[in-house]
Amino acid sequence: MRVNTGIMAKEDAKQLYPDKHGNVTLLCHECGHIHRIDAASYKAPGKSTQLSITCDKCGHALEASISFRKHFRKETNLTGSCTTRFAQPNRTISGEFSGIIVKNVSLSGIGFIVKSPLHVKEGDILDVKFKLDDPKRTVISKQVIVRRIIDNLFAAEFTPPMDPTGSPLAFYLRFRQD
Ligand SMILES: [Zn+2]
Repeated sequence: MRVNTGIMAKEDAKQLYPDKHGNVTLLCHECGHIHRIDAASYKAPGKSTQLSITCDKCGHALEASISFRKHFRKETNLTGSCTTRFAQPNRTISGEFSGIIVKNVSLSGIGFIVKSPLHVKEGDILDVKFKLDDPKRTVISKQVIVRRIIDNLFAAEFTPPMDPTGSPLAFYLRFRQD
């Protein structure tokens, strides 16, 4: 099932993500044969992550690239909000609010732009809420820890980590890999 109604990714631009055993699976779009490939040899420094193989069954040339990112990260443009919390005992400001635009989402966290200035430092905890652009307009409401701040751009990690299988976000990332 593919929820996405956008243009399908071009076959030759296919991104593969290794499974927990370090293998990637590449489907031949000509004959449907499935190739399981050990991704380890593509991980070495200086090695290309471009995969170029010939189908065992039909001889069709297949190309893909392997991504060793921990989690697939999707570029987004989702609106939401955040509220600051007490993080360190010596911080006095909490409960500040700002609208946000979530620019990317993964199962580990989000990158977002804050619309109003906040008294936030790296390591602070925020409550974030944003709406996915899935058909149900699912609202994600989560606590994050701010990892990096560059001007009004924040990179933050979900805390506790997102459930990799059961959460609506996992579903969203799985079926919206544009
Ligand atoms: Zn084939």
